Amino acid sequence: MAKQEDQFKKVISHAKEYGYIFGSSEIYDGLSAVYDYGQNGVELKKNIREYWWKSMVQMHQNIVGLDAAILMHPATWKASGHVDAFSDPLIDNKDSKKRYRADVLVEDYREKINQKIEKDITKAKKRFGDAFNENEFRSTNPNVLRRQKEIDKITLELTRVQEENDLAGFKQLIEDLGIVCPISGSKNWTDVRQFNLMFGTKLGASAETATDLYLRPETAQGIFVNFLNVQKTGRMKIPFGIAQTGKAFRNEIVARQFIFRMREFEQMEMQFFVRPGEEMKWYDYWKETRLKWHKSLGLGEDNYRFHDHEKLAHYANAATDIEFNFPFGFKELEGIHSRTDFDLKAHEEHSGKKLQFFDPELNENYVPYVVETSIGLDRMFLAVLSKSLQDEELENGTSRVVLKLPAILAPVKVAIFPLVKKDGLPEIARNIVDDLKFDFNVMYDEKDAVGKRYRRQDAAGTPFCITVDHDTIETQTVTIRYRDSMMQERISIKDIKGIIEQQVSFKNWMFS
Ligand code: ATP
Repeated sequence: MAKQEDQFKKVISHAKEYGYIFGSSEIYDGLSAVYDYGQNGVELKKNIREYWWKSMVQMHQNIVGLDAAILMHPATWKASGHVDAFSDPLIDNKDSKKRYRADVLVEDYREKINQKIEKDITKAKKRFGDAFNENEFRSTNPNVLRRQKEIDKITLELTRVQEENDLAGFKQLIEDLGIVCPISGSKNWTDVRQFNLMFGTKLGASAETATDLYLRPETAQGIFVNFLNVQKTGRMKIPFGIAQTGKAFRNEIVARQFIFRMREFEQMEMQFFVRPGEEMKWYDYWKETRLKWHKSLGLGEDNYRFHDHEKLAHYANAATDIEFNFPFGFKELEGIHSRTDFDLKAHEEHSGKKLQFFDPELNENYVPYVVETSIGLDRMFLAVLSKSLQDEELENGTSRVVLKLPAILAPVKVAIFPLVKKDGLPEIARNIVDDLKFDFNVMYDEKDAVGKRYRRQDAAGTPFCITVDHDTIETQTVTIRYRDSMMQERISIKDIKGIIEQQVSFKNWMFS
């Protein structure tokens, strides 16, 4: 655990040191859970967004994009249920004055029990070696059985209090489990209250006539209200999807995990409109397709798992999270939800406008069902950054800090160095920069010894370095050095572009 926390601290300080992420308005001591992306961060974020966009929009003939406004008519949020139900249960500890999400307190407690089970399993695996049968152990070992029973009991009660909005029952559950405040260590809790997460703002010049608006808490509703606009003008036939990336805002109660939980963040969402009754088929399709997208980046297949929801949101008939192994454990990275016809129907009711599709094959009108994929761009950024940052022991006894970003996502693809700042080498290096800059984000660096320059690019995440030396003048060849293997080879200047193109090609990453 301590090792994980150390890794998380390293990720945060590395992100700042290398121009990836800064706290917002730092010179004024910052704004809690709001962040700015620096010169490298903005590139990495753009590349993640593009990797998502290409795989969702460009690769699917029946998915198109949209860029809806952040501000929407306030009736939108009444119809969607956000005004009445977009809230989290909060609880305060009277001694530490710290605020918590009541559901998270219970979930963390439950996860601790689960970790004990996993520890027992790891121990038993070691003891029994190849003969170990995990399923049998789980179903017979008395300690595991007792703990699992406890977990199931907690899950049942947590689901009940959430579904029935039984706030007194929520507090009782926290008290019954003996959950203590991690800061004060006390069980001196306030009652549980619901807290709406939407940020309000005003439209209009004078206080009397101004209209109350909300900053959108999700991008999805911009897609629903434009469903017919896009369907008609794009002559889309069901099944089809609308994809959108953009900012969303949530006044999160507890936001202490860097860019994992922010108050202003970016989502990448796709709503897929299907025939009623076919939604489970498409739900399974998108579960599999989205997991494949994640795995294509090579961050480690074991770092992903599905978590199917026990408690479904008011609009869903099935929901799962793709969880990622963040430095603080497995947590939600992306949600896949079968949203039924809830949203379109609600907008029909509140607007009085029909939001239906005429299906020529069935010769009937219906309100389509929707399967949604929704991923936080910033969370994805954190997933990529935290798995890529590595301390590596080298064979010669030294070590290096290397940011092994997937090459397709790296902010700078290639750095070009002249070996020395004279003898015409800088000019050749700059010519190479000028040639490559049309196709890739490249940088030129002539400061310090070459070894030091390599280390600097390793830590910044640049996958390739090109060094121009005296032989280049004669042979028109350079040295290419690969960040991950540290291998170096001599190549012709005219081959540089082709080699890099191959290594950062969308097709190769997504489909190999
Ligand atoms: P959580 O349970 O972590 O609060 P959620 O279930 O409310 O998340 P959704 O409403 O399903 O999240 O939003 C879809 C995605 O948007 C999430 O999977 C996550 O990646 C991202 N996301 C949601 N809230 C935040 C936030 N406050 N900061 C950064 N990303 C977020």
